[in-house]
Amino acid sequence: MTKRILCFILLLTFLPGFISCETEKPSVVDRSPLNSEVSVLESSITEESAAEESSLDDIPQSRGFYIMFIDVGQADASLIMCDGHYMLIDGGNVDDSNRIYSVLKSRGVEHLDYVIGTHAHEDHVGGITAAFSACTVGQAFSPVTVADNVPFNNFKRIAQNQGVELQKPVLDKVYMLGSSRFTVFAPRENYEDANNSSIVIRLEYGDNVFLFTGDAERASEEAMINAGCSLSADLLKVGHHGSNSSTSYLFLRAVMPTYAIISCGAGNDYGHPHKEVLSRLENADVKTLRTDKLGDIICYSDGQNLRFECGTADDNVSYAYIGNKNNMLLHTVMCGGLPNPNNRAYFVSLEDAERAGYTRHCSNCMP
Ligand SMILES: [Zn+2]
Ligand SMILES: [Zn+2]
Repeated sequence: MTKRILCFILLLTFLPGFISCETEKPSVVDRSPLNSEVSVLESSITEESAAEESSLDDIPQSRGFYIMFIDVGQADASLIMCDGHYMLIDGGNVDDSNRIYSVLKSRGVEHLDYVIGTHAHEDHVGGITAAFSACTVGQAFSPVTVADNVPFNNFKRIAQNQGVELQKPVLDKVYMLGSSRFTVFAPRENYEDANNSSIVIRLEYGDNVFLFTGDAERASEEAMINAGCSLSADLLKVGHHGSNSSTSYLFLRAVMPTYAIISCGAGNDYGHPHKEVLSRLENADVKTLRTDKLGDIICYSDGQNLRFECGTADDNVSYAYIGNKNNMLLHTVMCGGLPNPNNRAYFVSLEDAERAGYTRHCSNCMP
């Protein structure tokens, strides 16, 4: 049995108000910080409880709505599903490619309507190439079409190989994803700073609103406030991994989320999330969930209420082929001459391997 950690059960047991939470702002707010409760609960996680109840693997494939904040360490990656339509916002670092690929495969994602690289930094677009190996892609959005770094150029190239040109999304335009819709709020200006150039979107499903801010910092936050963007949201994907450069007091007051998600790596070099941001969130009675503490975080919405599951999702898939990232040579998993584990790209099908550019085959194992 796959080892899996689930805080779902614990939350169900100990935090009934959290599991099925009304998204209307409560008039009386429980001031106990969620983080401390969750960290206490983590110590009592058991395998038995995981086996008894529904799990991260029971996700309906083609109806309803969920957002999976994929634990990619000190990076960002969010998969959104609505009525069988999918969108990926960022794809983690280059090293996260295999994880992104297996998440998409294990969830049966064959087509992504949209892939959004919020900005041209490796921790956002490094692993995004996996989306183009695992799936066909409708549209790919980026705030820039030219950037001077290898991960971005690989993103652009693999998209082009699939006949998809990176395009800047249209500001304030409404895009549909199944019965949900999203609006692009930023970047509203041409920033030299890549973080501030982050694509910011407001995603709406029923009465629920989610705000994804990439690594947008104070300048972009102010531009959105000044432009009168409708920033109020039930859930804020906190900007820049919880850095103090983002989630300014004014911005937080405009968003006033019930929940905040912070994607960051345990013990990261930047000290993210910064204590100033955590205390701003706590002072605003925002329930904060962190990938460094909880692993993957899945938020389900029925259009009115939000429900969360967290832990490490089981995304084991059966790989048949292994590519050597250095020389782009493809092997079967049984080959005697497999590349060093650090240089491996895993694929479930020849079609996926070819889509990722692995067209040369090992002459020994002959894939
Ligand atoms: Zn980042
Ligand atoms: Zn960045």
